[in-house]
Order: sequence, then C-alpha cells, then structure tokens
Amino acid sequence: MNTDKVLSFFREITKIPRESGHEEQIIDFLKKFAQKRGLECKIDKVGNVLITKSAAKGYETRPTIVLQSHLDMVCEKNKGFEHDFAKDPIKYEMRDGWMVADNTTLGADCGIGIASEMAILDDTSLNIGKIECLFTISEETGMDGAFGLENGFFSGKLLINLDSEDEGELFIGCAGGVDTTAKFFYDACPLEDEKSFMQFAVEGGMGGHSGDDIDKGRANALCLLARFLAKVIDFDDVELCSIEGGNKRNAIPRDCTAVLAFDADSKDDIMSIFNQFAKDISEEYA
Ligand SMILES: [Zn+2]
Repeated sequence: MNTDKVLSFFREITKIPRESGHEEQIIDFLKKFAQKRGLECKIDKVGNVLITKSAAKGYETRPTIVLQSHLDMVCEKNKGFEHDFAKDPIKYEMRDGWMVADNTTLGADCGIGIASEMAILDDTSLNIGKIECLFTISEETGMDGAFGLENGFFSGKLLINLDSEDEGELFIGCAGGVDTTAKFFYDACPLEDEKSFMQFAVEGGMGGHSGDDIDKGRANALCLLARFLAKVIDFDDVELCSIEGGNKRNAIPRDCTAVLAFDADSKDDIMSIFNQFAKDISEEYA
C-alpha cells in the first residue's frame, strides 16, 4: 500500500470536524469520495458508512474482507488554546518526521484507519478480493455505531479492525470495558465574609487516551490537585468553594482548578504546602 497516499488522505481528514455524535461532515465526505470513484456506498440508520470495492478480475472467489475504523475522534485541547472542534481544522506540524498536532489531539485514532481504508478503496491496481470498508460512528463515547449495526449491513465474514495503536501488532481478543458512575454528596454552607479566596491549578498535563495511555505514568490533573487538597482540607478554616477539571470521560485530565476559602492568617501555611506540592510533582514528572 502507498503510504504517501495514506498520509495525504489523513491530511484531508484533519480538516473535517468529527467529534463523537457530530460525524455528519465526515459521513458526507466519504459519500462524495465513494461517488467520485463509482464505489457503492450505503449509510445505515445510526450513521455507519459502508463502501464496497468489488474484487479484482480473477479474485472473485477470494473471501470478502471487512475493514473497520471509526469516524469520530477524541476532541481534547490544552487549556487556553482557541480551537472550535465543531468547525476548525486540526493544526499540525512535522516534528522529527512525526506529524504532531498543535495543542489539540491529532485524531490519528482512528483517522489513520480511515485514511488506510481510503487508500485501499482508491487504488485500482490492487489484486485483491472484495473489500467492504466499514466506518462506524461514536466509538469513543460508547461504540454507538458498533452497537447499532444491523444484521446484513455487510456481507463479509472476516473483519479486521484498524483501531489498534501499535504498528505491526495484531489483537485477536478484547478485554472489554466498563464505565463507573460514582455519586458523592456534600452539604453546601454559607461562607463567612472575612475569608480569603485563592484559586489553585494544575495545568499543562500531556493528556492522552484513558485506555491506551493509562499505563504510561502521565500526570492526571484531577488526581494531583486532589493530592494537594487532601493536605489542606482538614484545616479548621479551609473550605472548598469549587473544583473543576477534565472534560472527557475517555481522556486523561490535563487541567484542574480549585478555589479555596480560608482565614487570612492561614495563607502562608497553605502557600508553603502548595509550593512544596508543586516542587514534588515537577520532580515526579520531570
Ligand atoms: Zn479509536
């Protein structure tokens, strides 16, 4: 397969917004891609796309192979960086031979899978059997597309999923996934007027996928700030006013902020705990 072709299709895909649940533009893009090449394209009720490429002459008896990728991407960005995932193209640059996004996720998951399928569909010189390219929606937020697949949408009995992250490795099983919803209750109380307020933040984490990157020891801003809060929240005068961080259930939180209220004369103690905490974590993640 021609890698330049794969990358050039990938570059086209980076221009198309495709947040989970909002895949209309990429669906339309693939429809036009198929039309232009005279390939059969169908879309099911939930929005999954199937583009079929007939077998090359002499390869009609080969088993049909289904290639699958997902249309949506994890839309994450660094705090303070202006980017509207509903309409802005992903900005990227080449660094040491790697394509990297500028302050956002790149969408290589599963954009490179989509681009690979497009390169296969586009190549009229391949001597292969019938290929069915399946593109499912909303994988990142619950595999809605995969769950919504109806019997008979594709005909192949062999399916290769292109959503793996590691080159040259093939998975033949899956550990599955579980979501946990935890609820905690707290009592809100009015604050005394003479309190001081301060906002504390952990910012600029690398982020990453909650599945594939979870074992890489990356900073989780929520856990880190909670570690600081645990050191000060038991002081008699300290009250937690707000805490906010993380914005995707499938991404490692990059940023977290909390506002504390405390008596003015505790300020020095709290600051020295925070400074020590900042020193500790910058050493841990250096
Ligand atoms: Zn994926």
